[in-house]
Amino acid sequence: MRIISRGIRGLSGAASMIQFLLFIARAFTYRTSQLWGISLLASACGVHTPDSGDVEPLRTEHVILVVIDGPRYSELWADSAELAPNLSGKLMQEGVFASDFYNDGYTYTNAGHAALTTGVNQAIDNYGNELPANPSIFQYYLKASGKPATAAWVVASKDKLDILGDTRHPEWQGTYQPSLNCGVNGPNTGYRMDSLTLMEAKRILATHRPSLMLLNFMEPDGYAHAGNWANYVRGIARNDRYIKQLWDFLKKDPFYKDKTTLLVTSDHGRHLDGVAEGWPEHGDHCAGCEHIGLLAIGPDFKKGRKLKSRYTLVDIAPTVAYLLQFRMDSVVFEPVPVAAVAGIAADTVAVGVQQKTLLKGATRKGNVISELFR
Ligand SMILES: [Zn+2]
Ligand SMILES: [Zn+2]
Repeated sequence: MRIISRGIRGLSGAASMIQFLLFIARAFTYRTSQLWGISLLASACGVHTPDSGDVEPLRTEHVILVVIDGPRYSELWADSAELAPNLSGKLMQEGVFASDFYNDGYTYTNAGHAALTTGVNQAIDNYGNELPANPSIFQYYLKASGKPATAAWVVASKDKLDILGDTRHPEWQGTYQPSLNCGVNGPNTGYRMDSLTLMEAKRILATHRPSLMLLNFMEPDGYAHAGNWANYVRGIARNDRYIKQLWDFLKKDPFYKDKTTLLVTSDHGRHLDGVAEGWPEHGDHCAGCEHIGLLAIGPDFKKGRKLKSRYTLVDIAPTVAYLLQFRMDSVVFEPVPVAAVAGIAADTVAVGVQQKTLLKGATRKGNVISELFR
């Protein structure tokens, strides 16, 4: 693997030689904790340094994170040749697929998305009435880059995902908020069809030229909750086509071409057959709810490779932070209010499965998925 460095903003000067030596020493076993260790060490020295010039820089300048809401691994990935021929075919050949990829926190929409954008599993309310406890990749990015709100977007079929635009972290609430385009017309206006969400995403990309965007497609989850198998699998097939269209769009646009990383995953799966109500619902720790998968395509990643190691949703945020060169230095872990978790797994009027205990993975800090990189 090549040595990866574009310098972390705020790295300091007196430590440049230490930084360089550490990168050499660790080039073959690179992990984010080591990177953070380096940057902490460098920060402690208190002076600024330019980037090291003798290593190949990262090429990613923009990151698009697509979340297919609530398909089971069995339908989206295991049987993907049938339902998702683009994801399992051309797109997988262009990037890296992590099959051992999980939501091992809370397997419902707002918690899965908050884990993705903050790097922390949190038993958050699932009706859009609670902000994430931690600042998001959008906020860190806007602060670090100094760019306006139009440089980072949440574009979601589900209106309740507007909570991803802010945090209740006292030092961050109301600051560096991304632009929002959620549901029919913002919070409490209902879900929007995924075809419209794709149109909005393409319009925003062409107009505002953002460098960080999360897209949420809701049809697999929405139709599964309605118990409509035909429309559930149609949603998966549509999302497969939409992601191909989005990637083609990005590849044709000189602003994004060869500089954009696309990450495709899900917020959660659904119950295995025989677990609780089966495929229409989700929210517990069965293998169907937890197993999701990650496809990563970009100029800094390997091509046509499959990873064997296990990763989870909280590893995405530090990976994005690494790609776009910002530090996530405000992470707090809160004790889980067990009583508050009851019943919040429902995405619709259906009652979800209660999660009773503090999760084992809930307080684990994510790591950069270094295996993705060339
Ligand atoms: Zn389940
Ligand atoms: Zn759901």
